[in-house]
Amino acid sequence: MKAIIIGAGIGGLCTSIALRKIGLQTVVYDKRAELDLGGAGLGIGANAVRALQLLGAGDQLFQVGKTMRSVQIKSERGKLLSDTKTAPISRKFGADNVNIDRAKLLDVLLSAAGPDHRIQANKRCVRFEQSACGIKVWFADGTSEEGDILIAADGIHSVIRQTLLPQTKPRYAGYTCWRSVVPVDWSRLNYDPDVFTETWGRNGRFGLVPLASGHIYWFACLNAKKADPRLAQFTAKDLAKQFGHYHEPIPQLLENSCSGLLLHHDILFLPPLRRFTFGRVVLLGDAAHATTPNMGQGAGQAIEDAIILAGHIRHSPSIETALERYSKQRVKRTAAITKMSNLVGKIAQLNLPAAIALRNALMPATGKLVTRQLDYLYHIDLDGLLK
Ligand SMILES: Cc1cc2nc3c(=O)[nH]c(=O)nc-3n(C[C@H](O)[C@H](O)[C@H](O)COP(=O)(O)OP(=O)(O)OC[C@H]3O[C@@H](n4cnc5c(N)ncnc54)[C@H](O)[C@@H]3O)c2cc1C
Repeated sequence: MKAIIIGAGIGGLCTSIALRKIGLQTVVYDKRAELDLGGAGLGIGANAVRALQLLGAGDQLFQVGKTMRSVQIKSERGKLLSDTKTAPISRKFGADNVNIDRAKLLDVLLSAAGPDHRIQANKRCVRFEQSACGIKVWFADGTSEEGDILIAADGIHSVIRQTLLPQTKPRYAGYTCWRSVVPVDWSRLNYDPDVFTETWGRNGRFGLVPLASGHIYWFACLNAKKADPRLAQFTAKDLAKQFGHYHEPIPQLLENSCSGLLLHHDILFLPPLRRFTFGRVVLLGDAAHATTPNMGQGAGQAIEDAIILAGHIRHSPSIETALERYSKQRVKRTAAITKMSNLVGKIAQLNLPAAIALRNALMPATGKLVTRQLDYLYHIDLDGLLK
């Protein structure tokens, strides 16, 4: 059986690896001239780390990624609001969370894929047709390809999803985000390199995500109107005006950040869909369930999709049953995560002083809630699916 995969992002690459592991032929197409997973860093949850281990990418992931000792939430003055230790999580779920530079994750995935994978850049999918016998896909350069199933891993603005569900549009979450990765000298920065921190303040949210080999990934989120052209021009200096009074090392990092390396995006999500499969066409990753980044699970869910799709194809009596099972299982879990993530975003982005004071006072008592949330996120049984 041959799968045509549109999109060589995290979802598309992981799906190609997973499907090949169960004996399918795959070919991956991407519209970009060069492969690229986007910039900045990424937090990979324990669930997705286990999935990457099943894809054969575990050893390299730990070589180039960084595990954390704890995940903290602080107020803008630096008061500790919550502190989740990672060791009990790793023991319970059999994997650590890992932070990684996206460029390095691409190397990890390409190396797990091996040299035989067919991945073609500069191929923009423009349309497809399906029949009882198969799928045909056309590209902007006039070429076409035929196969048995089509995997739409073409991201939040998926053309394939737009063809199937023209009414479904990504929604703006109400906040906009800047990201950057900067080199740091840990001996001079007043910050523990084994701790991931989010600082929730009146002006917005600031995240500090240590990476391996002397780098830190930071992100800053501000409540804002959608597509504000003024914010698109923001430099690190402008961000320093918003976050300059936050605790160290935030002002210090913004001072040392070069504006040219800032990435800026409005935060979007996809309202949960009712199904992810349409005949021989499968929606996967952000094309199916783009979520806000507040739980660090967007890529994680794309990686889970890859294993679970391959697992159902491997263990179902027919391809139709396999795709039905994939859709049913993934719709439920990803919808729950999208809702949870939206709620966390709303709480983190509160900007009324009274609401912030109440939230901060309640935060230390939320330990049990956080543990329940993590249980849901990280507890997923993937073992044996690819065998
Ligand atoms: C600010 C921010 C922070 C985030 N942080 C995290 C995090 O810490 N942890 C986490 O797990 N997730 C995080 N995410 C989410 C994560 O980045 C995405 O969920 C993940 O990258 C989705 O992967 P994907 O392969 O589904 O889609 P994409 O990465 O969007 O890949 C889609 C690919 O399809 C290609 N493509 C699109 N259209 C076509 C076409 N017509 N023809 C051919 N190719 C096409 C594109 O070029 C692209 O390469 C974050 C997202 C944002 C915005």
